[in-house]
Amino acid sequence: MEKILCYSCNKTKHKLDVKKSSLLPINLLMCETCVTSKFEPRWVIILAGRSNGVDHVKEYIQKKRYIGNEVSASELLV
Ligand SMILES: [Zn+2]
Repeated sequence: MEKILCYSCNKTKHKLDVKKSSLLPINLLMCETCVTSKFEPRWVIILAGRSNGVDHVKEYIQKKRYIGNEVSASELLV
């Protein structure tokens, strides 16, 4: 079987759920842990922040609802 990675934590999981992103009009493949934690992939937060403004993603950044390095202000500016 093809290995699929969770969009959020990048780990290979046996089971991934399709979840509609709360920030962008796309579907995400995420593992149960990330779905339960209400995480969004880091790149989704950056893309959404760039296209919709920092306020749109502020909550995700403040509550650190993503995996990976801290999203810096400069990454949210194009
Ligand atoms: Zn995950």
